[in-house]
Amino acid sequence: MTALAALIAGELPDGRGRFGQFGGRFIPETLVPAINRLEAGAKEALADAEWRAGLDAELASWVGRPTPLTHAPSLSRAWGADVWLKREDLAHTGAHKINNALGQALLAKRMGATRIIAETGAGQHGVASAAACARVGLPCIVYMGAVDVERQAPNVRRMKLLGATVVPVTTGDQTLRAAIDEALRDWVSDPMGTFYLLGSAVGPHPYPWLVRELQSVLGREARSQMLRDAGKLPDVAVACVGGGSNAIGLFHPFVGDADVKLLGVEAGGHGTGLGEHSATVAYGSPGVLHGCKSLLIQDDDGQVIETHSISAGLDYPGVGPEHALLAETGRAEYIAVTDDEALDALQECCRLEGILPALESSHAFAGARKYAAEHPGETILIGCSGRGDKDLGILMNAIDFGEGA
Ligand SMILES: *Cc1c(COP(=O)(O)O)cnc(C)c1O
Repeated sequence: MTALAALIAGELPDGRGRFGQFGGRFIPETLVPAINRLEAGAKEALADAEWRAGLDAELASWVGRPTPLTHAPSLSRAWGADVWLKREDLAHTGAHKINNALGQALLAKRMGATRIIAETGAGQHGVASAAACARVGLPCIVYMGAVDVERQAPNVRRMKLLGATVVPVTTGDQTLRAAIDEALRDWVSDPMGTFYLLGSAVGPHPYPWLVRELQSVLGREARSQMLRDAGKLPDVAVACVGGGSNAIGLFHPFVGDADVKLLGVEAGGHGTGLGEHSATVAYGSPGVLHGCKSLLIQDDDGQVIETHSISAGLDYPGVGPEHALLAETGRAEYIAVTDDEALDALQECCRLEGILPALESSHAFAGARKYAAEHPGETILIGCSGRGDKDLGILMNAIDFGEGA
C-alpha cells in the first residue's frame, strides 16, 4: 500500500509513529518512559467514549463549539468564487489553539499529572494552555524566551491573570527554541508527574497524531456544515501553515475526498533567501528537529536557520510530519505568500466582510485569493484560524491609517 493510501485508510501514523519517511521519535533515552506513557494514555483516552463525551461537552459549553461556517458574499464577488469561512476566530481565546490545549489538559488530568508545562513563542499557545489548565484545575508553568517575554508583554499578563507561572528563559537564543529546550529539561526531571502540553502538530510521536486528532474537530464540523449550507463539499480547503495544527485539523477529514483539493499557505516573509521567510514546505529539506523527522529550513551544513514572518505564529523553521507527507505525495499543495500580501488580504477581509482575521489566518486569505484568480467560479473553504485583535500593535506600524506622521 502506498503511504497516501495508508493515510486515507486511517493507518498513519504507523506503529513507529511514522507518516511515510516522516515523523517518528528522535529523543534522548531519558524521555522514552514519559513518551511511552503519554502514547498509551492518549490512545486509551481517545478510544474511551465517556472521556470523549466529556471533552465534547467542554468544547461546546466552554470553547463555544461548533464554531460557525460563514458565507463571504463580498469576497466571493471580488474574487469571482464562492467563499466560505470556518470561524476559529470565534472560539474561546480567539483561535483554534484552544481545541488542542483543552484536550491535552483533560488528558493530563485523566493520566494523574500534578502539573502541566508548556512553551510559547508569541504567547498564544501559552494563553490557551493557561486557560485550559485553569479550567481543569492543574498548575501551569509556561517557558518563554526572555526576548519574547519582553516583546509579548500583553500575553504574559494574560497568562498570569489565568493563574500560570511564566518562566523567562535566558539561555540560547532566548526565544522559542530555547524555551522548548528548557521545557524538555523540566520534563526529563519529573516525567511521571509532569505533562508536557505541546502546541502544534510537531514533535516526537505521539504529538503530531494527538494534536491532529484534537484539531480535526474543526475539519469535521466544516465538512458537515459545507454539506448543510453550501449543499456540496468545497473544491478546495485552504489553511495557513506554521507548525501545521490548524491546517491538519481542517485537511484531515477531507483527505479521503479525492475531489477536494488541499492548499496550505506558508509565510513567504519578505523574500525567498534563507532567513527571509518561514515557508518550510516550499523551501525546506528533510531533517530532524524537536524529536521528529520532517521538512526544515536549514543551511547547507544542516544548521536550522532563524526564520522570518510578520506573523509570530507562522515563524517556525519546521512543519508537522503529516504535512511533509501530504506535500511529498502531492495530496496537498503548499504555496508561500509574502508579509505584504497577507497585510492586503487582512484589510480586504476587514472591509468586505467585517471580520478582522489574525495575521496568520490572513496568509490563508491571500493564498485563497491567488487560487481563485487561477480557478474562477470554484467553491473555496478558508480556515480562519484566529482573530486579529492581538495583532493591532504590529498593524499600527505596518499599515497607513491616514493619520499623518
Ligand atoms: C499559532 C497560530 C497559527 C499557527 O499554528 P499552526 O499550528 O500552524 O496552526 C495559525 N493561526 C493562528 C491564529 C495562531 O494563533
